[in-house]
Amino acid sequence: MTAQIIDGTAVAARIREEVKQEVEALKRDYGIVPGLATVLVGDNPASQTYVRNKQKTCQELGMASFGYHLPAEASQAEVERLVRDLSANPEVHGILVQLPLPRHLDEEGVLASVALEKDVDGFHPVNIGRLAMKGREPEFIPCTPHGVIVLLDSVGAKMEGANAVVLGRSNIVGLPTALLLIGRNATVTVCHSKTRDLPGIVRQADILVAAVGRPRMVRGDWVKPGVVVIDVGINRVEDPTTKSGYRLVGDVAFDEVKEVASAITPVPGGVGPMTIAMLMKNTLTAAKRRVSELARA
Ligand code: NDP
Repeated sequence: MTAQIIDGTAVAARIREEVKQEVEALKRDYGIVPGLATVLVGDNPASQTYVRNKQKTCQELGMASFGYHLPAEASQAEVERLVRDLSANPEVHGILVQLPLPRHLDEEGVLASVALEKDVDGFHPVNIGRLAMKGREPEFIPCTPHGVIVLLDSVGAKMEGANAVVLGRSNIVGLPTALLLIGRNATVTVCHSKTRDLPGIVRQADILVAAVGRPRMVRGDWVKPGVVVIDVGINRVEDPTTKSGYRLVGDVAFDEVKEVASAITPVPGGVGPMTIAMLMKNTLTAAKRRVSELARA
C-alpha cells in the first residue's frame, strides 16, 4: 500500500482564501479590519521568523498586523502591561504572544493577561481548561492541534471509536491535540519521554499524531497497515546536497511509513501551513464576534 499524501499546503490555501473573502466582506459591510497583534520578547531567530510569517500572512489576507518587539530582558510587568494594553485596544482583535518566552518570564502569567476574547492562540488557561471539560467550548482552539483535526477531516479519517495515539504531551501541541481527539470520540493514548514500549503502543493506532521533535523516530515497522499519520514534527537535519546544508524532516520516517499507512502528511507541506491558516481564521472569528457585539449594543 502506498499512502495518500495529505496536502496541507492545499488545505491551508483553501482556508486562507475563505478568510480573505470574509475579511473583504467585513471591511465592505462594516468598515472593520481584523487586526492581529504579535508580541515577541527577545531575539530568538526562529521566533522572529514565525512572527514575520504571521505578519506577512495578515497583509496577504487584508488584515491589519501590529508588531511589538520587547528586549530579551523585559520584565514580567512590562510584558503583561503591553498585553493588557492590547487587550483594551479596539483595533486589535487577536493577540499572539510568541512562545517560548525568555526563561525569567512566567509564561502562564503572560498568557493569562491576554483578554479571553482575543486569545486567538487558544493558550489562555481558561481556554485550555474549557477544551479539557466535557460540554464546554473554548473561545478559540489552539492553531496547530486544530490544523491536525482539519487535516484528518480532509481525508475523511474516522475519529469516532478509533484508537488514536498522540506522541508528545506539550501544552501547545500534544496535550490539546489529545483533548480534541477525545472530543471527537476517539480512544486516545498519549505518549511521552517516559512511555515504555513506544513501538508496541504506536502499532495499535488507527490514527497517529507525532509531535516529539525527534527526526524520523517513527519507523515503518512501528505502524499498523492503514493507519492515518499526521506528522507535526519539524526537525532540521544536515544535508550537504542542499544549498543551505540542511533539510527539514518530520518525526516520522516518511519514506518507510508511507508504504504502510493509508494517508500521511509530508514535512514540509503538511501541518506547518495549517498553523498560520488556523491563526488567521481565529483572528477573523474574533473580529466577527466584535461586529456582532457592536450590532447588539
Ligand atoms: P516539546 O519539546 O514541547 O514536546 C515534545 C514532547 O515529546 C514532550 O511531551 C516529550 O516528552 C515528548 N518526547 C520527547 N522525546 C520523546 C521520545 N523519545 N519518545 C517519546 N516522547 C518523546 O515540543 P512541541 O510539542 O513544541 O513540538 C513538537 C514538534 O512539533 C517539534 O518538532 C516542533 O518543531 C513541531 N511543531 C510544529 C508546529 C507546526 O506548525 N507544524 C507547531 C509547533 C511545533 P516529555 O513531556 O516527557 O518531555
